[in-house]
Amino acid sequence: MATPHVLILGGGYGGLACLRALSRHLHGGEYTAALLDATPHHTIKTRFHERAVWERRELLLRVPLPPLARAAGATFVQDRITALNLKDRRVEGKNGSHPYDRLVLALGGNIAYFDVPGAAEHTVSLQTYEDASACGRRLAALDASGRSDLRVAVCGAGVEGLEVAAMVRQRLPARRCEVVVLERSTEVLARSLCRPAQREYLRDYLRRREIELRLGATIQGVTEQGVTLDGGEMVGADLVYWCAGVRRVDLPGTAAGEPFRVNPYLQAEEHPEVFALGDFATVQSDQEFANLASAQRAVYLGTLAARNLWNYDHLRLLRPVRYRPIGELIGLGDLDGVGIVYGVGVTGKTAGALKKANEVKYLAELCGGLPGSFLRRLTARPPAS
Ligand SMILES: Cc1cc2nc3c(=O)[nH]c(=O)nc-3n(C[C@H](O)[C@H](O)[C@H](O)COP(=O)(O)OP(=O)(O)OC[C@H]3O[C@@H](n4cnc5c(N)ncnc54)[C@H](O)[C@@H]3O)c2cc1C
Repeated sequence: MATPHVLILGGGYGGLACLRALSRHLHGGEYTAALLDATPHHTIKTRFHERAVWERRELLLRVPLPPLARAAGATFVQDRITALNLKDRRVEGKNGSHPYDRLVLALGGNIAYFDVPGAAEHTVSLQTYEDASACGRRLAALDASGRSDLRVAVCGAGVEGLEVAAMVRQRLPARRCEVVVLERSTEVLARSLCRPAQREYLRDYLRRREIELRLGATIQGVTEQGVTLDGGEMVGADLVYWCAGVRRVDLPGTAAGEPFRVNPYLQAEEHPEVFALGDFATVQSDQEFANLASAQRAVYLGTLAARNLWNYDHLRLLRPVRYRPIGELIGLGDLDGVGIVYGVGVTGKTAGALKKANEVKYLAELCGGLPGSFLRRLTARPPAS
């Protein structure tokens, strides 16, 4: 029998973790594999709030995928997937058709606008590098205008929304720009590991930095002038960041608007040779954190998918998702933060430093073993434009 070919769609956190976990089987000749992504870079999405405020911030924000794929024993294919054809074991892309024996779907998430009128047209988002860069350019233009009556609204007080609000304040002082965070829930960081002490730190941080937090604010619509709340109140804004939710990437070949459901072993319904994970998939599990959208979870699931794929081919027992986050860190500007690590609450500079250390550790693990010339290229400053 020919060597089975594994196709991994998406070179984000989950897809790369899966590839890395499969690597020894690829080098051992048990499989061939291709990593496919629409862009040639793995992006450090957890830092997009930085790019969405500082249009030039680039250092270590993107890592080229081809050398990472090569080091793992796979090839890299750049293409944008347009449809799945699970029945015929192939996926369709803009550049052609890609057959597979085993498929890993790790295409991540996209912005969820929840049908709020005007949200797609009049807000900026942080879901892709290009989106975040566009936000950064818009804010830079407002900054360059020299105005001192600016107003920025952030929809959503989850990790993404709070991080971007704090970063906007780092760039634009309160005397020049009002920053308001609008959140439907009545609690800040509603779906978080943080405990009351961390929430209090956060609320105090927002007060000190004059970032207005409006809880229980349901957004009814967005226009060029700003955000309309339930009840008709208008919150005027020059720029509106939409950080209110994520849904899986939509693709023909999957039920539109429906979650892509996988069993607790990450296999697709009726297609045990297809594994799906990360923000793209909804795991059918009663585990508390099985579907908590995070990079940490995507990495865990990617590694599990690789193990289960091999176990499936070798008639071994598959392992169910048993995910518990080891912590959560929210960066507040470059130097502050709040969170929980191994059950211990952290705040202030310690939390900020831990968040950065965590990102460096992730990159070091990702790029470890790659040639020095590659690492030098990665850290080289881009030429001044
Ligand atoms: C601003 C921001 C801050 C965040 N902060 C944190 C944090 O502090 N901690 C945390 O744990 N999580 C954080 N998250 C969430 C985290 O980034 C996601 O949960 C994580 O990236 C999901 O990983 P994934 O592998 O499922 O998808 P992704 O990492 O999004 O990767 C998906 C990949 O698929 C590719 N792709 C998509 N569509 C196609 C297509 N049609 N064809 C080909 N390729 C395609 C994309 O180019 C991308 O490379 C943050 C998210 C944002 C936006």
